[in-house]
Amino acid sequence: MVNTLSTRRPFIIPIFLPHAGCPHQCVFCNQTSITGVGRDAVSPEKVERQIHEFLKFKGNDRRPVQVAFYGGNFLGLEKESIKRLLNVSAKFVKNKYIDVIRFSTRPDTIDHDRLDIIKDYPVSTIEIGAQSMDDRVLAMARRGHSASDTQRAVAMLKERHYDIGLQIMVGLPGEDEAGSLFTSRRIGELEPDVVRIYPTIVLKNSLLAKWYENGSYRPWSLERSVAHVKTLYLFFKKKNIPVIRMGLQAAEDLDNGTAVLAGPYHPAFGHMVHSKIFLDMAGTMLKDMKRGHDTVIIKVHPHSISKMRGMKNSNAETLKRKFQIRSLKIIPDPSLDEDQLAV
Ligand code: SF4
Repeated sequence: MVNTLSTRRPFIIPIFLPHAGCPHQCVFCNQTSITGVGRDAVSPEKVERQIHEFLKFKGNDRRPVQVAFYGGNFLGLEKESIKRLLNVSAKFVKNKYIDVIRFSTRPDTIDHDRLDIIKDYPVSTIEIGAQSMDDRVLAMARRGHSASDTQRAVAMLKERHYDIGLQIMVGLPGEDEAGSLFTSRRIGELEPDVVRIYPTIVLKNSLLAKWYENGSYRPWSLERSVAHVKTLYLFFKKKNIPVIRMGLQAAEDLDNGTAVLAGPYHPAFGHMVHSKIFLDMAGTMLKDMKRGHDTVIIKVHPHSISKMRGMKNSNAETLKRKFQIRSLKIIPDPSLDEDQLAV
């Protein structure tokens, strides 16, 4: 029996521009904490050094290479700064060390003037921080833009043939699972090329931290967030929209707890979601089989062994208990896709 749910990723060189070009302060944001990089810390010279370092690290990896500017509002930067950052990156594209450039930006900074600035650069993908498609939730998060800004921005990027990434959050103030599913449906209707899903974390020195401390905001638990993000992942999967990230990227300040006050942060959040999906797939397949098996063998792609096992082998233990299996073996089978399993 084979079950399926995949995607080959480029080699990304991430350049963090914490809060750069951003005129706002969203309630959940403290970009310096998220990225571990101080404000104003990124010059073209630094970008160049960083690209060189990542290229050394890349070694013989044959995946396509992308430089990605994250963490700020790229199109909100001064026109000259945009050009300087793109010039330095484009040099690497010209010399064929890098394939393309991508960046993230706010929906309300996307307009024809700004897009004209970047039109001659090798930018392939523009990611938009949509966060929610409910104007009430956006207002509570003090985003300073509406859902229609995201719709308008996507239409403009489509006209210019960019690949589009949309970022959404779960657990924002005023948005429950049903509201988040509504957001995801509207995001799905916009047919982006990729989606990222971030659980809302209470970062120190954010406005949300104050709301948490005075009791007006309760973050979602890790369990609730994983369960709901799993639902969203499967929703987008069904629509053939790859979810390329679930959970904040691990960073030292996040991992050592100095930046996080509360909320469902886990360095392996995406892995936990995938593990839950594998657990569900295996459970569905085992449900139809006779109980009390002595030995069950589950085959998965070698890259998916740890997803199938779950954190601390928890999936294997759950399946053994639930289906009265004495011995459960999870073995690699390179003939399967990374999102498949066979029992
Ligand atoms: S738009 Fe982005 S960088 Fe600016 S405050 Fe909001 S989350 Fe932070």
